Amino acid sequence: CAKDQGRNTYHYFKPEMDVHALERLMLENALRRAIERHELVLHYQPQVAADDSRMVGCEALVRWQHPELGLLQPVQFIGVAEESGLILPLGNWVLASAARQLASWQARGLDLLMAVNISALQFRQSDFVDDVRRILADSGADPAGLELELTESALMQPTPEVLARMNQLRELGIRLALDDFGTGYSSLSYLKRLPIRRLKLDRSFVKDVPGDQEDVAIAMATLSLARDLGMDVVAEGVETEIQRQFLAERGCPVMQGYLFSRPLPADELRRWMDERGV
Ligand code: C2E
Ligand code: MG
Ligand code: MG
Ligand code: MG
Repeated sequence: CAKDQGRNTYHYFKPEMDVHALERLMLENALRRAIERHELVLHYQPQVAADDSRMVGCEALVRWQHPELGLLQPVQFIGVAEESGLILPLGNWVLASAARQLASWQARGLDLLMAVNISALQFRQSDFVDDVRRILADSGADPAGLELELTESALMQPTPEVLARMNQLRELGIRLALDDFGTGYSSLSYLKRLPIRRLKLDRSFVKDVPGDQEDVAIAMATLSLARDLGMDVVAEGVETEIQRQFLAERGCPVMQGYLFSRPLPADELRRWMDERGV
């Protein structure tokens, strides 16, 4: 029995695993302190309308301004945040910061959407809706400008509880979007039952259009599915004019990607908006 277990568990001393575990622990502790010390920052990536390229909103994306290592990207710390549960305080900080930015736009009369990523763990907390309600109230933002991006993994089992939670969020006036659409295991039959306003076409399907016939098929199927279900679409990762034109001609209403702008710190976003007259 001990022999069987040895294959998959760490009963035997393996130095490289200990180093790995130690690194993770140090990263976790550093991240915990970073949240307390306000080392996290949000960058904002504009989303633009396909027809006239006007800005319609943006996605808030977290970064970690590490005092020694510089600016860290989500890929470097979101995994540890998820595994350690730190994604919960991190996620609330992101939501509160994004809601404050949204409120300040609204105070200037700007009608823009703020999209915020919500991890599956966050969404599954029984007090998630209460947190969102409180954070919104504290910020003074109109909920109509807030869009929560959920992933297929958060909605994998659309239990009555999950559906009820989504409806509560919608009743608060918030919009829901499905992020990275096409990469998970969404069953098309449950999509129609969920109160989702937008699908975000994953950038892996945008990357090789119009050259790759399979990606073209997936992009077009997503656009027509969304249309038939009465949902909007945002294409992620639009980098070239050729991609933009292809998607626009096929009715994709909103786009996001380096072609328009990289994710920007708040002050640079302000300048980007000023230059465009937003
Ligand atoms: P995502 O939500 O799918 O965000 C889009 C990612 O694509 C961002 O990466 C963005 O910088 C990148 N991107 C945008 N346009 C382009 C493009 O034209 N080309 C390429 N190659 N990439 C583009 P980022 O900021 O590194 O974030 C990665 C992921 O980390 C996000 O994917 C999201 O899943 C997660 N994440 C980021 N911020 C948060 C957060 O506040 N909370 C949670 N739970 N997850 C977050
Ligand atoms: Mg997202
Ligand atoms: Mg995405
Ligand atoms: Mg993603």
